[in-house]
Amino acid sequence: MNIYGKTLKMLEDYFKSNSENPAKAKIVFKAIYKEKVSSFFDIKNLSLPVLTKLSNDFTQELPGLIKMSESDEACKYLFRLTDGHTIETVLMKHDYGNGVCVSTQVGCNMNCVFCESGKLKKVRNLEVHEMVGQLLYLTDILHIPVSHVVLMGIGEPFDNYENVTSFIEIITEQLGLAIAARHVTISTSGITPKMLAYAKRQNLNSLAVSLHAPNDELRNQLMPINKKYPITGIIDAAKRYTENCNKKVTFAYIMIKGMNDSPELAHELAALLRGLNCYVNLIPYNKTRSTNYEPSDKEQIAIFFDILKQHGINVTVRRKFGTDMDAACGQLSSDYENSI
Ligand code: SAH
Repeated sequence: MNIYGKTLKMLEDYFKSNSENPAKAKIVFKAIYKEKVSSFFDIKNLSLPVLTKLSNDFTQELPGLIKMSESDEACKYLFRLTDGHTIETVLMKHDYGNGVCVSTQVGCNMNCVFCESGKLKKVRNLEVHEMVGQLLYLTDILHIPVSHVVLMGIGEPFDNYENVTSFIEIITEQLGLAIAARHVTISTSGITPKMLAYAKRQNLNSLAVSLHAPNDELRNQLMPINKKYPITGIIDAAKRYTENCNKKVTFAYIMIKGMNDSPELAHELAALLRGLNCYVNLIPYNKTRSTNYEPSDKEQIAIFFDILKQHGINVTVRRKFGTDMDAACGQLSSDYENSI
């Protein structure tokens, strides 16, 4: 078992089931995440039999780095997992700190027509330690400080709900990586039941919904998952989140030329979101290799933006990250697999 897959609670249960004091879990957590020990035998204040058992039961393995490509504002890492599959992680250098875009699955089943990751098809969910490992590689091996985490890499986080929630628990734990809860953002294509479960947790984490269309007819075309979980349910679940968690929800809206960027759709979007405690983030589409879509023109985005503003919607236009090196979130793909 990999120790980085264990939440503090799981580790406490491990000690309990071995008739040991569960408080030992805190010592272990602090040692591996704060003191960064690379051998269990370096953990202070635990007896040799306990350390021996730990090192028999657990490993501290991290994913292996295959390659990285860097630009001024982003850096993309390709990792190999123990079963040979590869995943991608992106570091985004903001002026307010470093953000890491974490992948949650090998491939993705959502099949959004505009998305490169969806072309991979889901192979499997990532294990908790494989998500924690993406972060630890950056913080511990490359010594890059990280303040923000977004679950916007390859995969649908809510299609891997249990592992994703454990991952968040570990990285936000004070004795763990201590990332501020509000600096962790889950992005979902709208898996309604899981959005509701997430809202129920009354957590402080941020939630983004990839909306991309204001009506079912258009959204069905762009995101097949909408046929299973249509817009009304998504808006209801988002509302529940804003109420239970007392936070704004973010709606991501990629702007694809001639597809979802007309003034009429802007009015329709404003009507849909009226009264909801939310932001809309307009994202110019990033051209990808295997899709034929184009980003909307700047003027078209400005018109769309103004209409939402006039309706009193909080709206921003996102700067593109790493477009020059193919590293934009949502554009993570199988480069490596294609090149071998
Ligand atoms: N499956 C989750 C997490 C992925 S987040 C979700 O859908 O939210 C990745 C984000 O990038 C999503 O909002 C996705 O719709 C968006 N995206 C995908 N391809 C893109 C592209 N070529 N340009 C801009 N955004 C893209």
